[in-house]
Amino acid sequence: MDGLTTAHASPYVRLRNRLSGLGLDTMAAGLDRYARAVAAGETDFCTALLEMADAETAQRERTLVARKIRSAGFPYEKTLEDFDWSFQPSVPRAVVEDLATLGFVERAENVVLVGSPGTGKTHIAIALGIAAVRARKEVRFADCAQLVADLGAASARGELDRRLRYYAHSSLLIIDELGYLDIGEQGANLLFQLVSRRYERRSTIITTNVGVGKWADVFGDAVTASAVADRVCHHCTMLRITGRSYRTKDLLPEEGRKGPGEGDGR
Ligand code: ADP
Ligand code: MG
Repeated sequence: MDGLTTAHASPYVRLRNRLSGLGLDTMAAGLDRYARAVAAGETDFCTALLEMADAETAQRERTLVARKIRSAGFPYEKTLEDFDWSFQPSVPRAVVEDLATLGFVERAENVVLVGSPGTGKTHIAIALGIAAVRARKEVRFADCAQLVADLGAASARGELDRRLRYYAHSSLLIIDELGYLDIGEQGANLLFQLVSRRYERRSTIITTNVGVGKWADVFGDAVTASAVADRVCHHCTMLRITGRSYRTKDLLPEEGRKGPGEGDGR
């Protein structure tokens, strides 16, 4: 300890403990540096306190967002900065970047991402979801088959209404991988109930490998499929991604070595 902290040992230590006791850990951690700066005349008391409070606020914000991102249920965390636009030119960058400004969430509109596996559908959905969490929206990410199973289990327990309310309440619900597993007539009916509750009130993003016109095959029931598609596609941005899988891009090195005019393997 130098002369400054020794001379003020008691109030300094007591203040630091008090700040920690109040949960103001960032302020407590910055106290030594700011006390020195004020004593040296490099800054004044109010400016120092303001900067300490700002640092505390910024840290709380980061902690809160990190917690909300964890609790939203994303399978992995990626943003649009991580997206290689040149790898997937069929993705309309301007449209996706506009979606990331979240006007569609304010307007309770939907987004459907259709494409084959590995083309970046879930990545884009997660990136939009994380943008929404950062903007303080309630976001829930759910795998379609798990969501349907969860609603089915709730229904069997006689708690369907409560569970539907849980999923219906988020400002943004991401239903991932519709179509990878058939959900059957009962599943389709549960999904319809959820989509109906959210219709024109809350935003939903759906990722799917099956074009909307073929959802009847997934649902096992053409009437329910078209009722779901009808609600989802009204006020909706539809993105069809055509291209190679990012997952297997390195397994096909020959394609990258082809000369101009020889095609790109698509
Ligand atoms: P799917 O279309 O099957 O949902 P994903 O979005 O999950 O595929 O993408 C599979 C993996 O490849 C993820 O790790 C994702 O981050 C990555 N990925 C896909 N497309 C791109 C891209 N254009 N740029 C960067 N990473 C990508
Ligand atoms: Mg996916």
